[in-house]
Amino acid sequence: MVNPPRSAYLHIPFCHKRCFYCDFSIIPLGDSAGAPGSPGINSINAYLDLLHREILIAPKGPPLSTIYFGGGTPSLLKKHELGDLLDNLKKKFGFQEGAEISMEIDPATFLENDLDEYLQIGINRLSLGGQAFDDSTLALIGRKHNRSQLIEACGWVNNFFKRGMLISWSLDLIKNLPGLNSYMWARELEQAVQTEAPHLSIYDLTIEPETVFGRMFKKGKLNLPIESEAKEIDSHTNKYLKSHGFSRYEISSYSLPGHASRHNRMYWSGSGWWGFGMGATSAPWGERFARPRTISGYKKWVEDQESQFLEKTLFVEGSSPMPLDELLMIGLRRREGIHFEELAKRSGWTHKKCKKNLELLEKNFWLTFLKEGYLLKENGRFFLSDPKGMLVSNQILIQMFMWWDSID
Ligand code: SF4
Repeated sequence: MVNPPRSAYLHIPFCHKRCFYCDFSIIPLGDSAGAPGSPGINSINAYLDLLHREILIAPKGPPLSTIYFGGGTPSLLKKHELGDLLDNLKKKFGFQEGAEISMEIDPATFLENDLDEYLQIGINRLSLGGQAFDDSTLALIGRKHNRSQLIEACGWVNNFFKRGMLISWSLDLIKNLPGLNSYMWARELEQAVQTEAPHLSIYDLTIEPETVFGRMFKKGKLNLPIESEAKEIDSHTNKYLKSHGFSRYEISSYSLPGHASRHNRMYWSGSGWWGFGMGATSAPWGERFARPRTISGYKKWVEDQESQFLEKTLFVEGSSPMPLDELLMIGLRRREGIHFEELAKRSGWTHKKCKKNLELLEKNFWLTFLKEGYLLKENGRFFLSDPKGMLVSNQILIQMFMWWDSID
């Protein structure tokens, strides 16, 4: 069975404008977003009303140990708006002692004083969306901030961290951006380490069809690093960060000892979580459910919930545990990998069924990966080798899904 949810994700969908690679569920408000009296204020108020209502209609659950404000750009909200959401969540579930309360922040949306206010309401971990240091790269990907704003923001956050007001903080970067070569990437990494961030999230650029980059890619106008360059970038990332004390605890996450994100680890552990807000995914008792990605769809969904209680994921009964293929997929992203038999037994498989299907997986689908050291097996536990296996994680997962489709 999936563990009961002790984590909550709240989606804050507002952004100044849409970055060229992003297909998240967001509402672009324009450059004046967040300013007193700006046109976005009404949208923010109407959305927060829906979010509060969704929290109210959720069933009770155990006290939360991790809470995460993601987006969008949560730092477009004011202290009292974030504080009210935390109060509402606390009333509903309670918070465990020492709960990790994280928030994504965008360099172009806050000043040092704002940070102080976030920490006063209980936020204790920040994730700064830097994405790149190079000014021309930032312009090319459609970010609002520039290099000096990012460096200044890192300095503010790190000062709060050093003064003991944050348990940790993280910097996001994107690798394999258009025009990037391994030399430029090495410079990006150096600057990331110089910020003293104890946690780095390093995402691979993915090209989503309905984005500016998707359209440019289709027309052959996106100058992405070639495969050998991308491999060089990945391999350098691992070596460089390892030499600076970071360990890769999940495909996209590197941390100094003790700074792994508890909320992030929860997603890859197979535990359930609450999700609130437009486009948010929740899996309170295993089965995943994604809310509508538009504000009108989300509004209607919340109203339906209030009047008819239609959504089965809001009830304990009727929810099924996370399917085995999903458990295997999310587990394989973690450094510690998966114990196949343990997960299969949690899903109700007998020893005989485990043995038969595991043999099929190893012999017909994962044989090359195992033989060539992309996938390692120790005491029944499978895990990706680092960096070799992590680089081809998608191919390994595709084979796993093909195996899943082939079994009875
Ligand atoms: S700030 Fe983040 S969520 Fe908003 S558009 Fe850019 S990438 Fe997407």
